[in-house]
Amino acid sequence: MDDMRLALILNAISPAIGGVLVRGEKGTAKSTAVRALTAVLPPVDVVTGCRFSCPPRQPDPDCPDGPHPTGAAWQPRPARLVELPVGATEDRLTGSLDIGRALTEGVTSFQPGLLAAAHRGVLYVDEVNLLHDHLVDLLLDAAALGTNYVERDGVSVRHQARFLLVGTMNPEEGELRPQLLDRFGLTVEAAAPRDPASRAEVVRRRIAFDASPAAFTARFAAEEAALAAAIAVAQERLPAVVLDDAALERIASVCAAFDVDGLRADIVIARTAAAHAAWRGAATVGREDIRAASRLALPHRRRRNPFDAPGLDEDQLDGALGDPDEEPDPPSGGGPGPGNAEDSRDAGGTGDTADSAGSGADDGGRDAASDGGDDEPRQAPLGRPGRESVVPSGATFRARRLEVPGKGQGGAGHRSRAATDAGRSVGARPPQPASGPRDVHLTATLTASAPHQRRRGRTGPGLLIERADLREHRREGRESNLVLFLVDASGSMAARRRMEAVKGAVLSLLLDAYQRRDKVGLICFRGAAAELLLPPTSSVDAAARRLEAMPAGGRTPLAAGLAEAHATLRRERFRDPLRRPLLVVVTDGRHTAGAEPGSVAARLRRDGIAAVVVDCESGPVRLGLAAGLAQALGAQYLSLASLSASDTPGSGSHSSGRPAGGLSAEVLVESVHGWRAGQAMRKVA
Ligand SMILES: [Zn+2]
Repeated sequence: MDDMRLALILNAISPAIGGVLVRGEKGTAKSTAVRALTAVLPPVDVVTGCRFSCPPRQPDPDCPDGPHPTGAAWQPRPARLVELPVGATEDRLTGSLDIGRALTEGVTSFQPGLLAAAHRGVLYVDEVNLLHDHLVDLLLDAAALGTNYVERDGVSVRHQARFLLVGTMNPEEGELRPQLLDRFGLTVEAAAPRDPASRAEVVRRRIAFDASPAAFTARFAAEEAALAAAIAVAQERLPAVVLDDAALERIASVCAAFDVDGLRADIVIARTAAAHAAWRGAATVGREDIRAASRLALPHRRRRNPFDAPGLDEDQLDGALGDPDEEPDPPSGGGPGPGNAEDSRDAGGTGDTADSAGSGADDGGRDAASDGGDDEPRQAPLGRPGRESVVPSGATFRARRLEVPGKGQGGAGHRSRAATDAGRSVGARPPQPASGPRDVHLTATLTASAPHQRRRGRTGPGLLIERADLREHRREGRESNLVLFLVDASGSMAARRRMEAVKGAVLSLLLDAYQRRDKVGLICFRGAAAELLLPPTSSVDAAARRLEAMPAGGRTPLAAGLAEAHATLRRERFRDPLRRPLLVVVTDGRHTAGAEPGSVAARLRRDGIAAVVVDCESGPVRLGLAAGLAQALGAQYLSLASLSASDTPGSGSHSSGRPAGGLSAEVLVESVHGWRAGQAMRKVA
């Protein structure tokens, strides 16, 4: 059985495991497998007419449709699969409170959202890594408490929301926040089947379906029914499965061997192993159950070197599990080859180094101590091989905020100004007729009602409020953007010192983009052509790596670079229309190959692409070509030196009190890989 199917079935048996994250490329049939799971989940009994799926035997005492009398009518319904679209609004997820009705009619009116619909079923988030931040927070809160709590202006509603969280993601498009990653009980890697037998089976099924859809469906309906029955049997068996001390110790030693943080991994492995034992019909949790559970529960929790392949070293796992009848071996004694012990120790050591910079934000004490013990020379030999063959990046600094002019509507972030429903309140307005008042501005509403009190016949305390008085917040926040770097890597830039400075500057801007939750892309041009080194992604880590490896030299096809940027931005506009791009051109403005850059620059300008030209020209004789390019693009013009935030004392939150260039590229590259890069930087500063 493949990992994804097993992980889904174990969650169906024991929802306490906490859901599944399916990582994989597009086209690996992730969604199909999730939908198939829902079909085999046992049906749930619900109180008739309750929109919050109260179970008849133990209805939710806070149920907004309640209280339900004992003996209320009920009926079974199939378990639901509720899909959370990545662009959903907060109201859609949590449900919405009609404050307008509360004020004017004195009643609590609540429209249930997706969390209510998913209660006792599956909440499915395709591309969960692209979910907006504030939705992630709401989702984490609900998942942790098993309750959805909605409060607006003193009116509140709560209802139970326990669901199996299933997410899919394509890691190429950006990673997940660690809090969200940890919330998923299990992770699996989905890959298109590569072995001939599986591929043949897929084709065979397709042919069978085309030949006779009815017969095919009937055959699989029988399989489905058998699977549903097996899950129901395992569910009944689960409470009686024994998890003895030996099993708990074995779990603890596996977690220790893979150096995971906290106790959550132990708990998830224990629950998963028990479900696995119930599934195979065993009365006691054994080694094979713990092994299967560890493979699913550990990959996303262990500390690892960013360059390690995902997944788990199975030899190391077997070493940590020990033999069925013996004490677990120390890692150096186990494993079929002597190389394994060496490997695992090496990987652990490197992971520690990366983490000592990263995890400090999580708990200051322990990591602060290990930071103190870390000295630079000890880190140096652990660097990636082959670094000496590329021009390293120079010192990095806190970059000033470059932003897209005007006001956008992109996803939440920290770069450009945006009209959003989640930003800070900047005033009040009458309700928009389309939506009705959702986000009531209390002060403005009361103020609007005040002049009419005598006419409305108010006699006692308390205001008389009518619908026409209602005002809602006008909000403004910051959006995230797509920052596309177009870097000149030609011979004129290739002087070692200059390329170091350029790479350092771009790395600084990349880290800034990470903290502001932007998407980034990287194009370089040199020789005869431009090359898209990194298509737009949220993986700043990938961008930093491509930049580090970027070679320099040759002629300067500036027009080709601009054309590639234009084509990339056009494609991206189709994929993500609300995300406004910012093109950052890092160049000395020279062009020595290909067409004149004038016409393509004009095209970018006509399409309204916001741009910044960073002038890298240095030396005694300067041509000032980059300023001309900036003019042609309608771009902001900055010198390389002025990119640092310390040049702009007005930039408030950015002034760190630390001089520019105080952070080495080493530290940045180490920390930029981590989830906690942002915090690490803050801590270092
Ligand atoms: Zn109810």
